[in-house]
Amino acid sequence: MSRRLDDLVRHLAPTARDADALIDLSNVVRDDRFGDRRPRSLDRLRLVVEALAHRTSDREVRVHALADRSLRHAPHEYADRAEPRLLADWIGQGLVTEVPDADEPLLDLADVTGLPVVSGDDFKDFRLVHPWIQGNTTQFLGMRPGPDRSVELYARDMGVRTPAQISRKIEESDLKAHGLLAGRHRRPLTAVVKRSWRCPERGCTLYDSRRGHAVRLPVMRRGVPVCELHHTPLTDDGPRTGVAQLKVMADDACVHRVTLDAGTTAVLGRAPGAAGIALHDVLPRRLLERVSRRHVEVTVDAAGALRLRNLSAHGSLLLPYGAREWTELSGGTPALLRVNDVVELIPGVRLTRSARRYPAEIAAAWQRAARKVPEASARAETRWE
Ligand SMILES: [Zn+2]
Repeated sequence: MSRRLDDLVRHLAPTARDADALIDLSNVVRDDRFGDRRPRSLDRLRLVVEALAHRTSDREVRVHALADRSLRHAPHEYADRAEPRLLADWIGQGLVTEVPDADEPLLDLADVTGLPVVSGDDFKDFRLVHPWIQGNTTQFLGMRPGPDRSVELYARDMGVRTPAQISRKIEESDLKAHGLLAGRHRRPLTAVVKRSWRCPERGCTLYDSRRGHAVRLPVMRRGVPVCELHHTPLTDDGPRTGVAQLKVMADDACVHRVTLDAGTTAVLGRAPGAAGIALHDVLPRRLLERVSRRHVEVTVDAAGALRLRNLSAHGSLLLPYGAREWTELSGGTPALLRVNDVVELIPGVRLTRSARRYPAEIAAAWQRAARKVPEASARAETRWE
């Protein structure tokens, strides 16, 4: 077995909290259009991670992988029995999440994080439970064979399936129909975490989103969110505001993530002042000293669009995803930074935007509530206020 598989460990995120993408691991491992020719190959995960590193411009890109329980149970389909053993090790260490059927938790997580899902599945039988899949052209990354049995990732057009197509697909498999029923049962939780809640009891601020930024999820009682303290049903306080996550890269590897709430403006630089995003604890000295004290201004509007404006006398460069040429980042009109676009402050220091759309605490709380994985370990992340 390739030693390169052991190096995958640093890319495996135990939870969706600091992942850049979600992986439908059974679908990836069994896609025999790329990688070695065996029916199942763990090396295909390595190839997908490589493609993601390229796509996100982050060679330390992290993925949260979910595997069906059956994935490691056909050792003869792998090139080497060490592969399913390694997979079992990862599952044992909590680096890969194993569930009876990964589709449903995968889609729930995609829904509450906004992270892309690497999968070739059409998820036809989940389109009633997850209507956001219909017509989606941004959140699913498909795989196609590249040169030399490598893999290329592309944004899939999920298309719109008619109710007849959806129900026919559901009838095809009792197992999937069962998944749908389970999904229906659990559906309220993903809907609940994306909204703010308020306890109607006088003076109760337990769930008040305007007090601090800790995300507290309501307790669910028979599908109704209730106050943990008063046991009264909570009042819907509107959609939870989104976030934008900025990744700071040193030499093409993410060294820091900054989460910004919608409706904020901040200055980022070497020493931007008390209210800014300071890079002095984040970058190696040799890079830090060339970054301006106030290098760029970051704005996140109410809709979650992230924009950057150059403040540095030395300038900053922008490379929109798919473009070949860098352009000067304007000091006047702020420029939109989309997922996979890159801004270069100085050679070796770059900024990108992750695909995350909701506070990481939401996904963590959802995962705890769904009892899928243990609580996330704390990693370097600043929540900027
Ligand atoms: Zn209360």
